[in-house]
Amino acid sequence: MTPGLPRGQVAPRNDGVNKDASLNDLQPVRGTRDLIGDDFRRHAHVIDTARRVAATYGFDEWATPIFEDTRVFSRTLGDTSDVVTKEMYSFEDRGGDSITLRPEGTAGVCRALVTGGLTQSLPQKVFYAGPMFRYERPQKGRYRQFHQIGCELIGPSEPLADAEVIACGWDILVALGISGDTVLELNTLGDAESKLAYRAGLIAYFTEHKAQLSEESLSRLERNPMRILDSKDAGDKAIVAHAPVIKPFLTEHAASFYAKLQEHLARMGVPYRENPRIVRGLDYYSHTAFEFVTDALGAQGTVMGGGRYDGLVEEMGGPPTPAVGWAAGIERLSMLLAIFPETESPVTVIPTGADAEPVAIDAVQLLRRAGIRAEIGYRGNLKRRMERANKQNARAAIIIGSDEAARGVAQVKNLATGEQHEVALSDLATHLA
Ligand code: ATP
Ligand code: MG
Repeated sequence: MTPGLPRGQVAPRNDGVNKDASLNDLQPVRGTRDLIGDDFRRHAHVIDTARRVAATYGFDEWATPIFEDTRVFSRTLGDTSDVVTKEMYSFEDRGGDSITLRPEGTAGVCRALVTGGLTQSLPQKVFYAGPMFRYERPQKGRYRQFHQIGCELIGPSEPLADAEVIACGWDILVALGISGDTVLELNTLGDAESKLAYRAGLIAYFTEHKAQLSEESLSRLERNPMRILDSKDAGDKAIVAHAPVIKPFLTEHAASFYAKLQEHLARMGVPYRENPRIVRGLDYYSHTAFEFVTDALGAQGTVMGGGRYDGLVEEMGGPPTPAVGWAAGIERLSMLLAIFPETESPVTVIPTGADAEPVAIDAVQLLRRAGIRAEIGYRGNLKRRMERANKQNARAAIIIGSDEAARGVAQVKNLATGEQHEVALSDLATHLA
């Protein structure tokens, strides 16, 4: 509030205090959003629900820093991934170190596992929620600062771990009431040996169609042909449609891993469909790859994605450590929500007359300390204060005048029914609970 201005009046944009003219048209940075009112409530509901469901699966919440040494990401996400080549927010800090705002959560969790000496205390089951940063073209469901929830199950190499992680994600969608809008698409990327064989098969196929490939896909042809399967270019998509699938290239081990995973998912009641085109944007996956997709959000159809990343902890400088996990975009989940908790209606304490104010202050504090959302009307006559209570969507008005103050009572008016009765101040909290 600028001092000296009449109530309710906004300071002129250039009031002389602020000499920098460019500050007159301050806007949120492109691709960032403020979370206010229902936007925040949706956001918080997604996190609260996910946290609660993940806890039933035994996940503990971690919070890692939102910026890391750039190498945490450049080393591990793969130097052909979109995230590393085009999307990272990297800068040199005042000490000359290269820092990156985290574009995703898994690398930081693995870094924390290694630097915290937890690689000998496995399994670790990690849940996290927080902001991520990618320099992308902003559009509906795609932002430069966005938020993810995620789960990582680090240690077990059995397909049961993959199934549990996926089931946890599914149960979160169920708890949010949006599982009906999403489909789980499942694939396997095989083990190292299958990947190598598949890679050769893809290179052979794409080389035959070199002339029709986008420049970006051409550049990936030798380095990482699997990433071409994930291309968003329309011309590439037509070629990708007829590319070989991985199944015939799978080793016996990889094929039985995948079969076992499907068996567990069926037993856990998690519906899925196989999609051999799911490869995931980041390079560190093997075996399981999956996405929960929706057609309710237009082009930004993936709400949750994940898979097995057995090589990542080792790349971070730890011992070879199997792991599987997923991340989901909170903004996209929020957009799908049909219901989310509303703010609780307050009760409003209204003193009428100066001598009632101290008693009213005692009453409002008593209510708050009893866990009841309570407001106190500041000024104006009874009518103005009642209007304000209605505007706050209050469920009850607690009117305390000089007479009530002297007798230690209040008039409690139910604002939904209009009913009013007298209640002793000492009974207020129980009466309103
Ligand atoms: P996309 O193909 O949509 O770019 P991605 O493969 O880059 O997704 P992941 O790295 O797997 O996404 O991140 C997991 C989830 O995080 C996505 O499924 C999506 O819900 C969300 N997400 C990713 N990038 C953004 C973004 N820029 N804005 C909002 N949500 C995002
Ligand atoms: Mg992306």
